[in-house]
Amino acid sequence: MIAIYPGSFDPVTLGHLDIIERASRLFEQVIVSVLCNPRKSPLFDVPHRIAQIQACTGHLPNVAIESFTGLTVEYARLRGAGVLLRGLRVLSDFEKELQMAHTNKTLCDELETVFLATSTEYSFLSSSVVKEIAQFGGMVDHLVPVNVAQDIYRCFNKTPPAATPNITP
Ligand code: ADP
Repeated sequence: MIAIYPGSFDPVTLGHLDIIERASRLFEQVIVSVLCNPRKSPLFDVPHRIAQIQACTGHLPNVAIESFTGLTVEYARLRGAGVLLRGLRVLSDFEKELQMAHTNKTLCDELETVFLATSTEYSFLSSSVVKEIAQFGGMVDHLVPVNVAQDIYRCFNKTPPAATPNITP
């Protein structure tokens, strides 16, 4: 069974990587699909996000990375995928994800959405949290793969560890 794991991955975090590693043990092939969303202005462009994920998933032979635009269900059909994989962290994820799963089911009955629960240590972790910390020079090494931490500091022109906070009375 082929599973697609679509998302923004801007950038990929250890939470995403945990889902990818666990999924690679459950499915014959996992395709991590980087969404090219014209409505979002990402920190990293799509080729860069693909390269970042490739660099930290090289040890997983049944994982491939690519990008797509358009309807996820059509993309899944083209790839012959039977599973659309998503991760769940908190209750607020659930509402949005369930709505999306039901919508996709109306568009393609054969595609099953499968949710993997986050590992406890990553339940707070999102790409936005990482970007917020990094832009103020905070430590993100424990939140993202090493290559991504380097990219993100370069991008924000910061050097780890955390810079002294600038307090204005
Ligand atoms: P999107 O914009 O599609 O939500 P994201 O890159 O934010 O893209 O997330 C892609 C998928 O990974 C989503 O299903 C999201 O719930 C899941 N995910 C994100 N962070 C984590 C995490 N820390 N643990 C488990 N799943 C996660």
